[in-house]
Amino acid sequence: AIQFRDIEKQFTPESVVVAIDRLEIPAGQFVSLVGPSGCGKSTLLRMVAGVDDPSRGEVTLSDSEHSQCAFVFQDANLIPWRTAQENVRLPLELRGPVTAEQRRTIDQAIEMVGLRKEDFRKFPRMLSGGMRMRVSLARAMVTQPNVLLLDEPFAALDDLLRNQLNEQLLELWYQQNWTSLFVTHNVPEAVFLSQRILVMHARPGRIVADLEVPFEYPRKPLLRNDPDFAR
Ligand code: ATP
Ligand code: MG
Repeated sequence: AIQFRDIEKQFTPESVVVAIDRLEIPAGQFVSLVGPSGCGKSTLLRMVAGVDDPSRGEVTLSDSEHSQCAFVFQDANLIPWRTAQENVRLPLELRGPVTAEQRRTIDQAIEMVGLRKEDFRKFPRMLSGGMRMRVSLARAMVTQPNVLLLDEPFAALDDLLRNQLNEQLLELWYQQNWTSLFVTHNVPEAVFLSQRILVMHARPGRIVADLEVPFEYPRKPLLRNDPDFAR
């Protein structure tokens, strides 16, 4: 579980950016975080990842979660001079020599996010935005994270593609059961994906609503291009 206790985050002495008294996210839960621009959503995620420390209080994760956080950003953040496959391999390379078994995991992850074999050798500039997002998701998956932090990952994509990726993400989450924190400005998307939605307000960034979403799996699709869907 991820726990926030009396957290405050300030970048300057004058203003508290995020203030959270108490928040607990049980292992395996899919949580969305919605709120206006600048309210502190990314800051909250960075504190969970441990790349940013609170000014007061502590964010605690269970041991396995702490070592196993993976981040997916809005702009995919791929390394341009590495192929899709090489990008996905990167987090494993950073941990040491890549074994044959890990190489299979890499190929599996790339396939699971819906990329084809011929895409593995392409460089990011040769891939569409949606494909780059898939590579980014695969790169997060190969570390076998316990916690997956997604910061508006699909914001730049068109609705149809976005829905497709949401369905795929939900399916992967259902199989892998990551504790997931998903930042979005899109409320239907949050409802579609999550078991729980946290609503934040700005100045300071506080959680003003903590909503449970009745969750069934598989979800009813958000949008389909088949004519029967509207009925
Ligand atoms: P958006 O929806 O636009 O991504 P957000 O909710 O993710 O917004 P944050 O990026 O967390 O918002 O920023 C929250 C506040 O903290 C903003 O006012 C921002 O200017 C400020 N802030 C964030 N990072 C820093 C930093 N490194 N130094 C100073 N101020 C920062
Ligand atoms: Mg942000």
